[in-house]
Amino acid sequence: MKKFILFSLLLTLVFCDGKDKDVPTCEDCEHLKNRKISLEGVYGKFESRQQRAQHNWPFKPFGKACPVGHISHSFQYYSGEPYFHHGIDIRMPANTAIYSSTGGKVVNIENYKLGNDLYWEVAIIDEQGFLWQYHHVDRDSIPQSIFDAYKTKAAIPSGTFIGEVVYWPVKAYGKNFHHIHVNVLDGDGNYMNPLLFLLPLEDSTAPVIENIYFVKDEGTSAISPRSLSGNIDIIVKAEDKMDNEPYQLTIYKTEYEVVSADKKYKLPKTKLWQFDRLPGGGDINKDVHTVYKKSFYASGQYLYTSGNYYSRNFYIVVTNQNAGKVSGNGFWNTTKLPNGKYTVTVHATDFNGNTTSKSIDVEIKN
Ligand SMILES: [Zn+2]
Repeated sequence: MKKFILFSLLLTLVFCDGKDKDVPTCEDCEHLKNRKISLEGVYGKFESRQQRAQHNWPFKPFGKACPVGHISHSFQYYSGEPYFHHGIDIRMPANTAIYSSTGGKVVNIENYKLGNDLYWEVAIIDEQGFLWQYHHVDRDSIPQSIFDAYKTKAAIPSGTFIGEVVYWPVKAYGKNFHHIHVNVLDGDGNYMNPLLFLLPLEDSTAPVIENIYFVKDEGTSAISPRSLSGNIDIIVKAEDKMDNEPYQLTIYKTEYEVVSADKKYKLPKTKLWQFDRLPGGGDINKDVHTVYKKSFYASGQYLYTSGNYYSRNFYIVVTNQNAGKVSGNGFWNTTKLPNGKYTVTVHATDFNGNTTSKSIDVEIKN
């Protein structure tokens, strides 16, 4: 009997080592980097926020936005390489019916992480040529009509039932994280911000800026704001939440500006990046730690960016841009201003335009 128990225990250990078929090792996941995504027939080009198409969210009742657990620029690090989330997680109970936001052609039905039923995709190219990937669709719920549309290349109208939300076994914020992950790609393979294509969010909650830190350019120790010299990186601890939702999200647009105490000298508002698409285009890993500081030392402890099921902390290097692009070569060159007292102001803006600003008095001593 004892031998049998030992044997059972051994079996359990062997088969529950994290590779078990229904255990998510990541959310959408970083292995997508190595996944070949066909852009055949994808030609969408995003013009402007003003002219954007506003499709229904893929759940009933139509005509309103749904809860969002992650946005496209969320920092994600489970294991392996950190990455930008690159799509949105729409939170809905397991087995909720999913309806295509757009009309278009079904171009893929795939178990993109072979052997794990959490990772089924239904992909549709919409009438404007954008590729919509719906992930975490319950395989058994995908109707035959969608398989048929995939086979015959027939178009489906918007609002077509494409399957149900799969049961997600891992908890976040005390609840199972049932969701679908939606990516929208344009004709160049850029991961676009899906919020640009959906009915507006109901969100009037502004981001929160917790703290502002200064380090030497690409440095790893905070320095006193009362003695800044040379090239400086400004790090902002910030997060955003949507109305009545617990999920800590990252910032759509982060900017900084500098003005002298006597208002004579000024560094105009400089934007790190506006997340209408990923800075790396189709590369979800590129510039993750240019935007989000990996780690640094401040007030007696190491602070680091995190983004997983248990912890979300975002330290944004607002100075890491150069010539309009996210760049590790970006910094604030304090030698371009005379020595003296200044105020640094940081602005954090969410997708709906809710903005928070925080200022800190500094001194340049070159
Ligand atoms: Zn996701």
